Amino acid sequence: MRVGNLSDRLTLFTERGAVDVAQASGGLFGPDPQAVYARWDEFRGWAAQHRDAAGAEFSPADLGAPSPRPPQIFGIGANYRDHIAEGEHLGMNIKLPDYPPVFTKFLSSFTGPFGQIPLPSATVDWEAELVVVIGKEAHNLDSSQNGWDYVAGLTVGQDLSDRVVQLRDQIPQLSLGKSFPGFSPTGPWLVTADEFANPDDLELGCAVNGHTKQKGRTGDLHFSVPALVAELSKVVVLYPGDVIFTGTPSGVGFTQQPPVYLAGGDELVTTIEGIGEMRHTFVTT
Ligand code: ZN
Repeated sequence: MRVGNLSDRLTLFTERGAVDVAQASGGLFGPDPQAVYARWDEFRGWAAQHRDAAGAEFSPADLGAPSPRPPQIFGIGANYRDHIAEGEHLGMNIKLPDYPPVFTKFLSSFTGPFGQIPLPSATVDWEAELVVVIGKEAHNLDSSQNGWDYVAGLTVGQDLSDRVVQLRDQIPQLSLGKSFPGFSPTGPWLVTADEFANPDDLELGCAVNGHTKQKGRTGDLHFSVPALVAELSKVVVLYPGDVIFTGTPSGVGFTQQPPVYLAGGDELVTTIEGIGEMRHTFVTT
């Protein structure tokens, strides 16, 4: 199932187009894309019966974030071995962590999968990431419980990062450095795990102006999707609609010699196998 946010309305995407859920369900489900996660199992049942429904054509420019106002947003650092290794020549001696390193991305940084993103500085970097949306409250999961059972689906994300703001003082400020307006695009829609042959091993990456910068596989995640859900749930309560940016593979700009950053006019295309792509152009302010 592919479900998302078209012009701020909950939309089911079938082979035959975009189905407005509020209209097609006769009001059983409302138009708010955020509200559906509180009724996710019920919605999945309804959507399964409408997977071949005829829909309308749509413009990708009208797609928004699949979970546009999540109760909580989690970012995970240092979650791909090759990304950890690429920081070593900068003196970033990060070992594989025993627990997921967690920060947040503030909600005002959210945007959709297509369009323009303002560049606040000349030190903004890309981070292609698999993004998880929670579909069921999770707290204190134990080893008998499968984190996937608490996941509504997967989408494409960018954890855009101003590397100067992120690292400018003694105490790293990942949450602020990754939260300028437009720094947290997600989309183009949410895809449920049953749509993938193996949801634990998807190719992901990004390209700038047609040149591939990152290319990895989620099978290389140090903490897998179900492991992240379980570990986070041991501290916080995960709510329906919560969003987790799961970390980025190698190939970011700031670890290159010399560092490479995004410039005005650059086009960034971010892709995950079986989900789709996002396309953004950067503008200097
Ligand atoms: Zn990241």
